[in-house]
Amino acid sequence: MRIASAGIQHETNTFAITPTTLADFERDSACGPDFDGGQAVLDMYTNTGTIHGGYIEAAEQAGIELLPLLCARAQPAGAVEQTAYEALMSRVLERLEAVLPVDGVALDLHGAMVSEADEDSEGAIITAVRELVGPDIPIVVTLDYHANITERMAEQSTSIIGYKTYPHVDMRERGREAVELLVRTIRGEVQPVQVYRQLPLITLPPMQCTLREPMQSMMTDVANRESEPGVLSATVAMGFPFADIVDAGVTVLVTADGDAAIAKKQVDEIAEKLWELRDDLQPQLTTIEETIRFTNEEAQGLVVFADGSDNPGGGAPCDGTVALRALIDANFQGAVVGILHDPETVALAHAAGVGKEINATIGAKTDTLHGTPIETKAYVRTLSDGRFIHRGPMRNGLPGNFGRMAVLVVGGVEIVLAEHRQQLLDSEMIRIVGISPEHRRLIVVKSAVHFRADFGPLAAHIFDADTPGIHRPDFANFDFQQVRRPIYPLDDVTKP
Ligand SMILES: [Zn+2]
Repeated sequence: MRIASAGIQHETNTFAITPTTLADFERDSACGPDFDGGQAVLDMYTNTGTIHGGYIEAAEQAGIELLPLLCARAQPAGAVEQTAYEALMSRVLERLEAVLPVDGVALDLHGAMVSEADEDSEGAIITAVRELVGPDIPIVVTLDYHANITERMAEQSTSIIGYKTYPHVDMRERGREAVELLVRTIRGEVQPVQVYRQLPLITLPPMQCTLREPMQSMMTDVANRESEPGVLSATVAMGFPFADIVDAGVTVLVTADGDAAIAKKQVDEIAEKLWELRDDLQPQLTTIEETIRFTNEEAQGLVVFADGSDNPGGGAPCDGTVALRALIDANFQGAVVGILHDPETVALAHAAGVGKEINATIGAKTDTLHGTPIETKAYVRTLSDGRFIHRGPMRNGLPGNFGRMAVLVVGGVEIVLAEHRQQLLDSEMIRIVGISPEHRRLIVVKSAVHFRADFGPLAAHIFDADTPGIHRPDFANFDFQQVRRPIYPLDDVTKP
């Protein structure tokens, strides 16, 4: 049995002004300019907490041949340039054609990628793969919890399996599940039928988190439904809201064994339960000034200020300075801010060297929506090559690379800066520059939710930041033009 696999991962923030280029995919995929498949993918992903890590593990256990065609990903940002999208798509199709016939296909996609010409980019990828392999070959697609799933994606795939966690700590498990379902389908043990339903509902990251209510109980319920008779898989995708496209928002999918009525019943029950939660899914935000006061007067341990408005994991610039400036102005002692994307300041720090003082202009260089640059003298405490291995629960074991890094000190604040723009979601990312979060009072993380997987157990208090930005969890901040209407909470909608 031979199963081909391919991964193209991008979450597109249509409010971001920086386009996503092929060079971005080359840098972040780390599989060379040709996006090598085969052994390069096996070497990178075997034994990692990723979708392809799960594909590889399940294929080995089933004793089948997995043919990884390509694994490309880029940090979330603005729309993917059409040439980049087509370059990746054509590699997938050419390589798939070269290995045909295959018995099945596993696609490791995000579900919220928007190219310049197609806001349903994954729908186009699945359709193209379907045209190549024909109607009888099963295609199982794994999608992010933030996928904006379209009807076309559901129609063109045999089954869609979404992550059940946010932070995304179940990627390996979902990857395993996808290959296991393919194997059972190919062997004729099951006959997957999928039912899809979109809700008139759009939600924001802080409350989509499955480590807190109401989504913790909701996703436990969804997982339990997979043990019910005839159910093969159940998915709730909460969607990526910072995408002004028709299909942004919440979807439900259930795959049943041969009986669409079973899937339909489950989908409708899940949709009803989700709809009842709609008001509990609205975030409560806290300012940095209130967080400083709380940390000084009330905190019983480490405080985390989750600056989700500037979360690079959702396409934000990751160089916002609002919280940093407030901490410096308050002469706060014992804070860390990171990880800011500021290649210029990193270069300056590396040129000066450890132990030197530099005149820096820190942050706010991408746009005018995330504060203003901070001009200051700064002490260069630590320099690094920025290479690390994920040690937290998310992407565990996967190598990562921030490019060069620097830790600057201004007053009582340590500022961690990097050449590459990435989300601070694993404490290893700051441990490599000598910072133990346990020994600090307040950490400003450029992350909305993913940091909770690894920093959560270290933190006594977590606040969702009230800061400006293109990932601010507040619909009043955005002018939606394209999303289907009516949709809650942008409109008053009374039933799902
Ligand atoms: Zn996600």
